[in-house]
Amino acid sequence: MNFDSLKKKLSEEKERIIGELDHYKKEDPYLSPSRSSQKTLDDEITETEGHDRIVATRMSLKESLAAVEGALKRIKDGTYGVCKNCGNKIPEERLAVMPTASLCVDCEEKLRRR
Ligand SMILES: [Zn+2]
Repeated sequence: MNFDSLKKKLSEEKERIIGELDHYKKEDPYLSPSRSSQKTLDDEITETEGHDRIVATRMSLKESLAAVEGALKRIKDGTYGVCKNCGNKIPEERLAVMPTASLCVDCEEKLRRR
């Protein structure tokens, strides 16, 4: 497997996620500098909904970021492509569709069923 192109792909993905996190931070009505103190109840509901949605989106982005960073770290450590649960090699076909996979299919299914 060519780690150079993989690293590049993962680094690009990382940049993209960081950019999106930044973007959503600015969208958060709670953090908006133009947030007014004179609000109607409707405003407040819209604001809360917007905030909650952004928090949920940011949370899943942060999970993706952690997965990408984990994969980059494993490349560096030389443990990339090895299942962290059983130590078996993760098939390349699986890594091709899911470059951030840290578990083989068997282990992932086992852990998911738990
Ligand atoms: Zn495994």
